[in-house]
Amino acid sequence: MHPGQARSRMEELWHPAELRFTKPFDMRTLNRTPSWRREIARGQQAISEAVLSARHTVERCPICGESASSCFVAVYGFHYRECGACHHLYCSNPPDAEGVKNLYTGADDQGKKTIQTWTYLDSRHYQTRVETIAAPKVAYVNGFCTKPGGRWIDVGSGAGETLVAAASTGFEAVGLECDPAECAFARERGATVVEEFLTGSNAAELLKGAAVVSLFNVLEHTEDPGGVTEAISAAVEPDCLVVIEVPRHPSLSSLSNSLFPGVSCRHIVPPDHLHVFTDASLQRLTSRNGLEPLGLWYFGQDYYDLLSSAMASADLPASSLYSQALDLNSLIQPVIDQAGLSDTMIYVGRKRSDVAG
Ligand SMILES: [Zn+2]
Repeated sequence: MHPGQARSRMEELWHPAELRFTKPFDMRTLNRTPSWRREIARGQQAISEAVLSARHTVERCPICGESASSCFVAVYGFHYRECGACHHLYCSNPPDAEGVKNLYTGADDQGKKTIQTWTYLDSRHYQTRVETIAAPKVAYVNGFCTKPGGRWIDVGSGAGETLVAAASTGFEAVGLECDPAECAFARERGATVVEEFLTGSNAAELLKGAAVVSLFNVLEHTEDPGGVTEAISAAVEPDCLVVIEVPRHPSLSSLSNSLFPGVSCRHIVPPDHLHVFTDASLQRLTSRNGLEPLGLWYFGQDYYDLLSSAMASADLPASSLYSQALDLNSLIQPVIDQAGLSDTMIYVGRKRSDVAG
Protein backbone atom coordinates (compact mmCIF):
# COMPACT_ATOMS: atom_id res chain seq x y z
CA MET A 1 0.00 0.00 0.00
CA HIS A 2 1.32 3.44 -0.92
CA PRO A 3 1.90 5.55 2.24
CA GLY A 4 -0.60 8.13 0.93
CA GLN A 5 -3.32 5.48 0.85
CA ALA A 6 -2.84 4.70 4.54
CA ARG A 7 -3.44 8.35 5.34
CA SER A 8 -6.58 8.52 3.18
CA ARG A 9 -7.95 5.49 5.00
CA MET A 10 -7.32 7.13 8.37
CA GLU A 11 -9.06 10.31 7.20
CA GLU A 12 -12.02 8.32 5.92
CA LEU A 13 -12.35 6.24 9.10
CA TRP A 14 -12.33 9.23 11.43
CA HIS A 15 -14.24 11.71 9.25
CA PRO A 16 -14.94 14.54 10.07
CA ALA A 17 -12.25 14.56 12.81
CA GLU A 18 -9.12 16.57 12.21
CA LEU A 19 -5.91 14.50 11.98
CA ARG A 20 -2.61 15.74 13.32
CA PHE A 21 0.79 14.12 12.90
CA THR A 22 4.07 14.08 14.84
CA LYS A 23 5.11 15.28 18.25
CA PRO A 24 8.78 16.22 18.40
CA PHE A 25 10.58 14.54 21.27
CA ASP A 26 14.09 13.28 21.88
CA MET A 27 14.19 10.26 24.20
CA ARG A 28 17.78 11.16 25.06
CA THR A 29 16.49 14.06 27.19
CA LEU A 30 15.32 11.32 29.58
CA ASN A 31 18.70 9.60 29.35
CA ARG A 32 17.27 6.48 27.68
CA THR A 33 20.41 4.70 26.53
CA PRO A 34 20.63 1.13 25.12
CA SER A 35 22.01 -0.06 28.48
CA TRP A 36 19.05 1.60 30.28
CA ARG A 37 16.81 -0.35 27.93
CA ARG A 38 18.53 -3.66 28.73
CA GLU A 39 18.22 -3.02 32.44
CA ILE A 40 14.51 -2.12 32.26
CA ALA A 41 13.83 -5.08 29.95
CA ARG A 42 15.45 -7.45 32.44
CA GLY A 43 13.25 -6.04 35.20
CA GLN A 44 10.19 -6.35 32.99
CA GLN A 45 11.03 -9.96 32.23
CA ALA A 46 11.31 -10.71 35.98
CA ILE A 47 7.91 -9.10 36.65
CA SER A 48 6.40 -11.11 33.80
CA GLU A 49 7.82 -14.34 35.13
CA ALA A 50 6.43 -13.59 38.59
CA VAL A 51 2.85 -13.58 37.29
CA LEU A 52 3.22 -16.46 34.78
CA SER A 53 1.67 -19.02 37.10
CA ALA A 54 -1.76 -17.34 37.40
CA ARG A 55 -3.14 -16.69 33.96
CA HIS A 56 -6.14 -17.39 31.82
CA THR A 57 -6.90 -17.67 28.13
CA VAL A 58 -8.61 -15.05 25.98
CA GLU A 59 -10.16 -16.74 22.95
CA ARG A 60 -11.80 -13.81 21.14
CA CYS A 61 -10.83 -10.28 20.25
CA PRO A 62 -11.69 -8.23 23.37
CA ILE A 63 -12.82 -5.33 21.16
CA CYS A 64 -14.83 -6.83 18.29
CA GLY A 65 -15.43 -10.41 19.47
CA GLU A 66 -13.85 -12.05 16.40
CA SER A 67 -12.49 -15.52 17.13
CA ALA A 68 -10.11 -15.74 14.13
CA SER A 69 -6.63 -14.46 14.99
CA SER A 70 -2.98 -15.08 14.22
CA CYS A 71 0.10 -15.12 16.44
CA PHE A 72 1.97 -11.80 16.24
CA VAL A 73 4.74 -12.18 18.85
CA ALA A 74 5.51 -13.86 22.19
CA VAL A 75 7.29 -11.68 24.79
CA TYR A 76 8.52 -13.04 28.15
CA GLY A 77 6.05 -15.96 27.97
CA PHE A 78 3.03 -13.84 27.01
CA HIS A 79 1.39 -14.36 23.63
CA TYR A 80 0.06 -11.48 21.55
CA ARG A 81 -2.45 -12.29 18.85
CA GLU A 82 -3.67 -10.12 15.98
CA CYS A 83 -7.45 -10.09 15.50
CA GLY A 84 -8.49 -11.38 12.07
CA ALA A 85 -11.16 -8.67 11.74
CA CYS A 86 -10.08 -5.38 13.40
CA HIS A 87 -6.35 -6.34 13.66
CA HIS A 88 -6.28 -5.30 17.34
CA LEU A 89 -3.31 -6.89 19.14
CA TYR A 90 -4.25 -8.56 22.41
CA CYS A 91 -2.55 -10.70 25.00
CA SER A 92 -4.20 -14.12 24.75
CA ASN A 93 -2.81 -15.43 28.08
CA PRO A 94 -3.01 -12.41 30.43
CA PRO A 95 -2.40 -12.58 34.18
CA ASP A 96 -5.43 -13.17 36.41
CA ALA A 97 -7.21 -10.21 37.99
CA GLU A 98 -5.40 -10.61 41.32
CA GLY A 99 -2.00 -10.50 39.61
CA VAL A 100 -2.96 -7.34 37.68
CA LYS A 101 -4.26 -5.68 40.83
CA ASN A 102 -0.98 -6.39 42.62
CA LEU A 103 0.92 -4.84 39.72
CA TYR A 104 -0.91 -1.52 40.01
CA THR A 105 -1.56 -1.13 43.70
CA GLY A 106 1.98 -1.86 44.80
CA ALA A 107 0.80 -4.83 46.88
CA ASP A 108 3.83 -6.81 45.75
CA ASP A 109 7.28 -6.21 47.15
CA GLN A 110 9.54 -3.56 45.64
CA GLY A 111 11.40 -6.04 43.50
CA LYS A 112 8.27 -6.78 41.53
CA LYS A 113 7.19 -3.19 41.02
CA THR A 114 5.89 -2.57 37.55
CA ILE A 115 8.07 -0.78 35.05
CA GLN A 116 5.60 2.13 35.11
CA THR A 117 6.55 2.86 38.69
CA TRP A 118 10.28 2.51 38.08
CA THR A 119 10.10 4.86 35.16
CA TYR A 120 7.67 7.48 36.38
CA LEU A 121 8.50 7.80 40.07
CA ASP A 122 11.78 9.32 39.08
CA SER A 123 11.91 12.90 40.30
CA ARG A 124 15.03 13.78 38.28
CA HIS A 125 13.11 13.99 35.01
CA TYR A 126 9.75 15.09 36.43
CA GLN A 127 9.77 18.69 35.21
CA THR A 128 11.06 17.58 31.79
CA ARG A 129 8.15 15.14 31.53
CA VAL A 130 5.65 17.81 32.54
CA GLU A 131 6.98 20.26 29.95
CA THR A 132 7.83 17.98 27.04
CA ILE A 133 5.28 15.15 27.38
CA ALA A 134 2.23 16.36 29.34
CA ALA A 135 2.04 20.07 28.37
CA PRO A 136 1.79 19.48 24.57
CA LYS A 137 -1.04 16.98 25.13
CA VAL A 138 -2.89 19.39 27.41
CA ALA A 139 -2.45 22.16 24.79
CA TYR A 140 -3.81 19.82 22.09
CA VAL A 141 -6.91 18.99 24.14
CA ASN A 142 -7.36 22.68 25.02
CA GLY A 143 -7.80 23.37 21.31
CA PHE A 144 -11.07 21.37 21.38
CA CYS A 145 -12.52 23.06 24.47
CA THR A 146 -15.38 25.42 23.80
CA LYS A 147 -14.88 27.36 27.03
CA PRO A 148 -11.79 27.89 29.18
CA GLY A 149 -11.01 25.86 32.29
CA GLY A 150 -13.47 23.56 34.01
CA ARG A 151 -12.95 20.25 35.72
CA TRP A 152 -10.38 17.89 34.15
CA ILE A 153 -10.42 14.36 35.51
CA ASP A 154 -7.36 12.31 34.60
CA VAL A 155 -8.05 8.59 35.04
CA GLY A 156 -4.93 6.63 35.99
CA SER A 157 -3.07 9.84 36.75
CA GLY A 158 0.16 8.12 37.85
CA ALA A 159 2.84 10.59 38.90
CA GLY A 160 0.52 13.50 38.05
CA GLU A 161 2.33 15.19 35.14
CA THR A 162 -0.94 15.76 33.26
CA LEU A 163 -2.55 17.23 36.39
CA VAL A 164 0.30 19.68 36.90
CA ALA A 165 0.23 20.69 33.21
CA ALA A 166 -3.60 21.01 33.10
CA ALA A 167 -3.75 23.02 36.34
CA SER A 168 -1.16 25.46 34.97
CA THR A 169 -3.51 26.27 32.05
CA GLY A 170 -6.49 27.03 34.30
CA PHE A 171 -8.19 23.65 34.72
CA GLU A 172 -9.37 22.33 38.04
CA ALA A 173 -7.43 19.08 37.59
CA VAL A 174 -8.21 15.98 39.63
CA GLY A 175 -6.51 12.61 39.24
CA LEU A 176 -7.87 9.13 39.91
CA GLU A 177 -5.12 6.69 40.80
CA CYS A 178 -5.19 3.35 42.61
CA ASP A 179 -1.47 3.13 43.47
CA PRO A 180 -0.90 4.83 46.86
CA ALA A 181 2.80 5.46 46.12
CA GLU A 182 1.93 7.29 42.88
CA CYS A 183 -0.83 9.25 44.67
CA ALA A 184 1.65 10.40 47.33
CA PHE A 185 4.29 11.29 44.72
CA ALA A 186 1.81 13.39 42.71
CA ARG A 187 0.44 15.15 45.79
CA GLU A 188 3.96 16.14 46.84
CA ARG A 189 4.15 17.97 43.51
CA GLY A 190 0.95 19.89 44.16
CA ALA A 191 -1.52 17.69 42.30
CA THR A 192 -5.01 16.81 43.58
CA VAL A 193 -5.49 13.04 43.49
CA VAL A 194 -8.27 10.73 44.67
CA GLU A 195 -7.10 7.21 45.48
CA GLU A 196 -9.75 5.28 43.56
CA PHE A 197 -10.09 2.70 40.82
CA LEU A 198 -12.78 3.81 38.36
CA THR A 199 -15.65 1.32 38.00
CA GLY A 200 -19.13 1.31 36.51
CA SER A 201 -20.63 1.87 39.94
CA ASN A 202 -18.49 4.86 41.04
CA ALA A 203 -18.00 6.58 37.64
CA ALA A 204 -21.07 8.85 37.92
CA GLU A 205 -19.89 10.24 41.24
CA LEU A 206 -16.19 10.54 40.38
CA LEU A 207 -16.72 12.13 36.96
CA LYS A 208 -19.51 14.52 37.97
CA GLY A 209 -19.23 17.94 36.32
CA ALA A 210 -16.19 17.01 34.21
CA ALA A 211 -15.37 19.13 31.16
CA VAL A 212 -12.55 16.73 30.20
CA VAL A 213 -11.96 13.08 31.10
CA SER A 214 -8.59 11.75 29.98
CA LEU A 215 -7.03 8.31 29.90
CA PHE A 216 -3.40 8.64 28.90
CA ASN A 217 -1.88 5.18 28.46
CA VAL A 218 -4.52 3.50 30.60
CA LEU A 219 -6.81 1.34 28.44
CA GLU A 220 -4.00 -0.94 27.26
CA HIS A 221 -3.48 -2.00 30.89
CA THR A 222 -7.09 -3.04 31.46
CA GLU A 223 -8.50 -6.43 30.62
CA ASP A 224 -11.79 -4.87 29.48
CA PRO A 225 -11.26 -1.50 27.73
CA GLY A 226 -14.89 -1.64 26.56
CA GLY A 227 -16.20 -1.72 30.14
CA VAL A 228 -14.05 1.28 31.17
CA THR A 229 -15.09 3.30 28.11
CA GLU A 230 -18.74 2.42 28.62
CA ALA A 231 -18.61 3.47 32.29
CA ILE A 232 -17.08 6.84 31.36
CA SER A 233 -19.45 7.52 28.50
CA ALA A 234 -22.48 6.69 30.65
CA ALA A 235 -21.28 9.00 33.44
CA VAL A 236 -20.33 12.20 31.57
CA GLU A 237 -22.43 15.07 30.16
CA PRO A 238 -22.88 15.33 26.36
CA ASP A 239 -20.29 18.10 25.78
CA CYS A 240 -17.61 16.50 27.95
CA LEU A 241 -14.41 15.75 26.03
CA VAL A 242 -13.09 12.21 26.33
CA VAL A 243 -9.37 11.87 25.59
CA ILE A 244 -7.75 8.48 25.03
CA GLU A 245 -4.06 7.81 24.38
CA VAL A 246 -3.12 4.25 23.45
CA PRO A 247 -0.27 2.33 21.83
CA ARG A 248 -0.95 1.74 18.14
CA HIS A 249 -0.66 -1.08 15.65
CA PRO A 250 0.42 -1.55 12.90
CA SER A 251 3.49 0.47 13.70
CA LEU A 252 7.21 0.30 13.26
CA SER A 253 7.50 -0.26 17.03
CA SER A 254 5.30 -3.37 16.72
CA LEU A 255 7.81 -4.60 14.15
CA SER A 256 10.73 -3.76 16.49
CA ASN A 257 9.09 -5.72 19.31
CA SER A 258 8.63 -8.72 17.02
CA LEU A 259 12.26 -8.51 15.84
CA PHE A 260 13.75 -7.97 19.31
CA PRO A 261 11.27 -9.41 21.87
CA GLY A 262 14.08 -10.06 24.38
CA VAL A 263 14.58 -6.31 25.01
CA SER A 264 10.95 -5.19 24.98
CA CYS A 265 10.29 -2.44 27.52
CA ARG A 266 7.58 -0.37 25.88
CA HIS A 267 4.70 -0.87 23.41
CA ILE A 268 4.21 -4.68 23.33
CA VAL A 269 5.33 -5.19 26.91
CA PRO A 270 3.83 -7.75 29.28
CA PRO A 271 2.37 -8.02 31.76
CA ASP A 272 1.53 -4.28 31.68
CA HIS A 273 0.18 -3.91 28.16
CA LEU A 274 -2.63 -6.29 27.28
CA HIS A 275 -3.71 -4.38 24.17
CA VAL A 276 -2.26 -2.47 21.24
CA PHE A 277 -5.04 -0.65 19.37
CA THR A 278 -5.61 -0.24 15.67
CA ASP A 279 -7.52 2.68 14.18
CA ALA A 280 -10.35 0.23 13.53
CA SER A 281 -10.43 -1.17 17.07
CA LEU A 282 -10.31 2.28 18.70
CA GLN A 283 -12.97 3.59 16.32
CA ARG A 284 -15.20 0.64 17.17
CA LEU A 285 -14.63 0.98 20.92
CA THR A 286 -15.44 4.70 21.01
CA SER A 287 -18.30 4.78 18.53
CA ARG A 288 -20.03 1.80 20.18
CA ASN A 289 -19.93 3.71 23.45
CA GLY A 290 -21.58 6.82 22.08
CA LEU A 291 -18.49 8.96 21.42
CA GLU A 292 -17.87 10.97 18.27
CA PRO A 293 -14.33 11.83 17.15
CA LEU A 294 -13.12 15.43 17.00
CA GLY A 295 -9.39 14.90 16.57
CA LEU A 296 -6.70 12.23 16.27
CA TRP A 297 -3.02 12.84 16.87
CA TYR A 298 -0.52 10.33 15.54
CA PHE A 299 3.05 10.31 16.83
CA GLY A 300 5.57 7.91 18.23
CA GLN A 301 9.08 6.83 19.02
CA ASP A 302 9.27 4.20 16.30
CA TYR A 303 12.58 5.12 14.76
CA TYR A 304 14.20 5.47 18.18
CA ASP A 305 12.62 2.20 19.27
CA LEU A 306 13.95 0.28 16.28
CA LEU A 307 17.51 1.58 16.74
CA SER A 308 17.61 1.25 20.52
CA SER A 309 16.09 -2.25 20.41
CA ALA A 310 18.70 -3.36 17.90
CA MET A 311 21.51 -1.80 19.95
CA ALA A 312 20.26 -3.30 23.22
CA SER A 313 19.68 -6.68 21.62
CA ALA A 314 23.27 -6.72 20.36
CA ASP A 315 24.44 -5.47 23.78
CA LEU A 316 26.17 -2.48 22.21
CA PRO A 317 26.77 0.69 24.23
CA ALA A 318 25.72 4.12 22.97
CA SER A 319 28.28 5.47 20.50
CA SER A 320 28.77 8.61 18.45
CA LEU A 321 27.53 6.73 15.38
CA TYR A 322 24.37 5.70 17.27
CA SER A 323 23.94 9.31 18.33
CA GLN A 324 24.34 10.52 14.75
CA ALA A 325 21.70 8.01 13.63
CA LEU A 326 19.33 9.24 16.36
CA ASP A 327 19.87 12.81 15.17
CA LEU A 328 17.82 11.81 12.11
CA ASN A 329 14.80 11.14 14.31
CA SER A 330 13.24 14.56 13.74
CA LEU A 331 13.37 13.92 9.96
CA ILE A 332 12.39 10.25 9.88
CA GLN A 333 9.68 9.93 12.55
CA PRO A 334 7.33 12.41 10.79
CA VAL A 335 7.51 10.24 7.64
CA ILE A 336 6.58 7.17 9.72
CA ASP A 337 3.70 9.06 11.39
CA GLN A 338 2.27 10.31 8.10
CA ALA A 339 2.52 6.83 6.58
CA GLY A 340 0.25 5.43 9.29
CA LEU A 341 2.95 3.50 11.14
CA SER A 342 3.24 5.55 14.34
CA ASP A 343 3.22 3.64 17.63
CA THR A 344 0.93 6.03 19.54
CA MET A 345 -2.35 7.86 18.98
CA ILE A 346 -4.43 10.27 20.99
CA TYR A 347 -8.16 10.36 20.36
CA VAL A 348 -10.20 13.41 21.38
CA GLY A 349 -13.93 12.79 21.22
CA ARG A 350 -17.16 13.98 22.71
CA LYS A 351 -20.22 12.16 23.94
CA ARG A 352 -22.85 12.27 21.19
CA SER A 353 -25.86 14.34 22.17
CA ASP A 354 -28.28 11.59 21.03
CA VAL A 355 -26.87 9.17 23.63
CA ALA A 356 -28.73 8.91 26.93
CA GLY A 357 -26.66 8.83 30.11
ZN1 LIG B 1 -11.08 -7.45 16.66
